[in-house]
Amino acid sequence: MTLNGKSALVTGSTSGIGLGIARRLAEAGADVMLNGFGDPGPVLADLRRFGTRVEHHGADVSRPEQIAEMIEAAERAFGGLDILVNNAGIQHVAPVEAFPAERWDAIIAINLSSVYHAIRLALPGMRRRGWGRIVNVASVHGLVASAQKAAYVAAKHGVIGLTKVVALETATTAITCNALCPGWVLTPLVQQQIDARAQADGDLARARRELLSEKQPSLEFVTPEQLGELTLFLCSEAASQVRGAAWNVDGGWLAQ
Ligand code: NAD
Repeated sequence: MTLNGKSALVTGSTSGIGLGIARRLAEAGADVMLNGFGDPGPVLADLRRFGTRVEHHGADVSRPEQIAEMIEAAERAFGGLDILVNNAGIQHVAPVEAFPAERWDAIIAINLSSVYHAIRLALPGMRRRGWGRIVNVASVHGLVASAQKAAYVAAKHGVIGLTKVVALETATTAITCNALCPGWVLTPLVQQQIDARAQADGDLARARRELLSEKQPSLEFVTPEQLGELTLFLCSEAASQVRGAAWNVDGGWLAQ
């Protein structure tokens, strides 16, 4: 399958899942606008080897005006935006009564409100050109809860609700909107949680084993490459009637 002539924006793609998705889209022929913090140099070099146009925009997606600038920049650079992957996300772990209000606000802004802003700003261009793909990286935590993740679980449930609404509002068009619901993926976001578990005895291997065995029956991590492959499928014509799905890729987490 080829995405030659298509353009994509992947938020939070300097690391982890977003990078895996952006790399697969570039490999399939799409021009890609990367986004996220940190030095984008190595990531730009990595993706440019596929020969498509790859740019980076440093928007902080907690800021709606910066999301607008980024979408305008992508449309200007590529002559339009065909594929929007809302992936940027953060985590904070604490019991609800000790959950800092500032962390709650940040998680809702980055993990949920940014998805709304990016969609409302990208959709008019997709409608004008008569084709589009919106893929929201939610989580199994968009469908079930875990203790100590009040803001994250609330935001991810919200993303899945928003995904369904946008799927309905675009149902008679060639624009689709779906959500991915990964289980554990070994990225910096999850490594922090493994490090926190290993704080007592420094045994990272045990912490990693326990993290998986509590929730993920396969006892293996999902990979960014697997999520890139599924995103590519959702961008294909074969997936043109996949609408409003919350597609779990979770090593059996939700089968229990
Ligand atoms: P990660 O920490 O590796 O990457 C997060 C990316 O988002 C980075 O590029 C970072 O720079 C960027 N980012 C963070 N805050 C930002 C902001 N305000 N503005 C712009 N960019 C910002 O995390 P990851 O594990 O790859 O997570 C990516 C997405 O996948 C998140 O939405 C997360 O909730 C979701 N997810 C992760 C897992 C997992 O197990 N890792 C599971 C399910 C869902």
